[in-house]
Amino acid sequence: MKVAVVNKTGQDLEIEERGIPEPLENEVVVKQDFTGICYRDILTRDGFFPRLKTPIVPGHEVSGIIEKTGSGVEDFKVGDRVASLIYLPCGHCINCVSGNENLCQYKKTLGENLDGAYSQYVRLNQRSLVKVPSGVDGELATISACVTGMVIHALKQVAGITEGSRVVITGAGGGVGTHAIQIARAYGAEVAAITSSPWKEKDLYKLGADHVVSSEGEFNKKIKEIWPEGANISLENTGDATFNEAFRSLGFGGKMVVVGNLKPASPPLQLGVLILKGNSVTGSISSTRRDVMDALEMSAKKKIKAVVSEEVSLNNVNDAFERIKAKKNTGRVFIKF
Ligand SMILES: [Zn+2]
Ligand SMILES: [Zn+2]
Repeated sequence: MKVAVVNKTGQDLEIEERGIPEPLENEVVVKQDFTGICYRDILTRDGFFPRLKTPIVPGHEVSGIIEKTGSGVEDFKVGDRVASLIYLPCGHCINCVSGNENLCQYKKTLGENLDGAYSQYVRLNQRSLVKVPSGVDGELATISACVTGMVIHALKQVAGITEGSRVVITGAGGGVGTHAIQIARAYGAEVAAITSSPWKEKDLYKLGADHVVSSEGEFNKKIKEIWPEGANISLENTGDATFNEAFRSLGFGGKMVVVGNLKPASPPLQLGVLILKGNSVTGSISSTRRDVMDALEMSAKKKIKAVVSEEVSLNNVNDAFERIKAKKNTGRVFIKF
């Protein structure tokens, strides 16, 4: 099988030929039809993760059919359709046993510490697996941990979204943003989608955005025109470029949840506003097994649909990275095997 490999950070991924893996103890081998390309994979290639050891197969957005099982695997069998967390939790620490495995400090991440999803067959530990209920599209199963489950974690578990919440979503045209609009709407929220790409406006309304603000720079004044009391939640998908405006869009008691950091940087935080408005700024990392199950359930009920920008072959993954960096895509780009 063909595998895309980061042999050295800062260089293109290389396509190599490898044998289909054999599962070790507690592991399964899953056959995928496709995998998602995440901005994190681009940051991996570009060398933004200092502890990354190369060579490594990047990618962490996995679903498919179990082809082989190793010893010790009891809850899953050959033929089961599964999705995977983007990491392998340790299973023993306080966060793991309390259902907060996304905060496991001993976890190993696919595509960073473990070979990831840029190959048709992937070796996975059973602790990472979640069964996919019937009625879930393949693409939605594949992005149930990194995209939809991650957004559910940020909006529901961290920000406490409720019906009627006023939610700002930055980077709204990207792979995360296009699904976040739908998820926020599924929770009954009113959504203002922020995009720096005005040509994406129509699509964002189609996905359910109540308001779309096309803005490279200042947008908090426009948000205040739409919502004089400000937003309850800002979901920050891009980082430095929009951080300050997303923060200033919040009303009293507003919560900002940061999930994206496309160009690693340290934006300033207005402490006076933070205090006087009783705002909070929180990071949110990945998703738990519970979040992935919620995402799959939402998908099975057709409350959300996959926004597929394009499908590329593994051979063309480097070109796809460049198009994603240039913000050419609306939605998720998938690698088709
Ligand atoms: Zn991802
Ligand atoms: Zn743990």
